[in-house]
Amino acid sequence: MRLAETVTFGGAGLDRAAGLRGDPEAVAALLCAGETRILPVWRGKPLFAGAAAGWLTPGHAVLAEATEAPVLLGLAGGAARFAVDVSGWEPPVGEAPAEGVFFDPTEQRHPDLPGDHRFAELRGLMAALTAGDAELVATAKALLGWHRSHRYCSACGRPSAVIEAGWQRRCPDCGTRHFPRTDPVVIMLVTRGERTLLGRSPGWPEGMFSCLAGFMEPGETIEAAVRREVAEETGVRIGRVSYLASQPWPYPSSLMIGCLAEAESEAIMLDPVELEAAVWLSREEAARVLAGDHPTIRRPRRGAIAGFLLTHWVADRLD
Ligand SMILES: [Zn+2]
Repeated sequence: MRLAETVTFGGAGLDRAAGLRGDPEAVAALLCAGETRILPVWRGKPLFAGAAAGWLTPGHAVLAEATEAPVLLGLAGGAARFAVDVSGWEPPVGEAPAEGVFFDPTEQRHPDLPGDHRFAELRGLMAALTAGDAELVATAKALLGWHRSHRYCSACGRPSAVIEAGWQRRCPDCGTRHFPRTDPVVIMLVTRGERTLLGRSPGWPEGMFSCLAGFMEPGETIEAAVRREVAEETGVRIGRVSYLASQPWPYPSSLMIGCLAEAESEAIMLDPVELEAAVWLSREEAARVLAGDHPTIRRPRRGAIAGFLLTHWVADRLD
């Protein structure tokens, strides 16, 4: 797909400067350099300044809340970009985050920052970021999320330590090295002639439908995962599968692999645990959904690959 890398979080070409990661002196020098910028992330929420990423300069008071060493994201225009987890900070009374919800609309403001700076859910602002910042923020959120949930060695259970400027952890006890994980997910634009198949999971916001998707399993090809997921969720049989586009999806650490899946059957048999409803939509109906003009199905959230694939299918731009 020619436009594949125009998806949100895709294709900005960040220089990840992997050659610097094993050089602690160089990393320490970069951390103090005047042109360096550092993004704090609080309990999975990046800092925003208005609708832009909230980059801070080295030595800013908020960075003193760090719970572990900053991670080196890479170089942007030759200047280093780091991210740091400040989850130990306690927000002011009345700004507690919403727990266990699909989208947390609350925002948290640190007293040492200007009024337009706050920690907020990336889902709500991801489509407003520049391509360069989107890649940096997605990387920061995924990498720091991995550190938060992998503090102990999975081989022996002892606390592990950050090495390689945040791109590995190492167990000082047994020596095992641990690498940040990315979990592949297949997401399918299922088509049958001029129609496409959308589904909704239990608990989603009212009117929300999306392309079918599911985690890949060990030992599976992308094609096999596409056919299995569609069959499990809807009973629809898939023939040819082709790759369209991919999207890093840091909620918390997925890689969405967008595929075109050509259906060989139409009858829907729902798996009620996975899906609450599934519908075949014509191209005209899908266009109404995208325009926010459909009577029962809401427009997809901007930035997600499902809406991206659907938009390009409606416009006949999947080539
Ligand atoms: Zn160990």
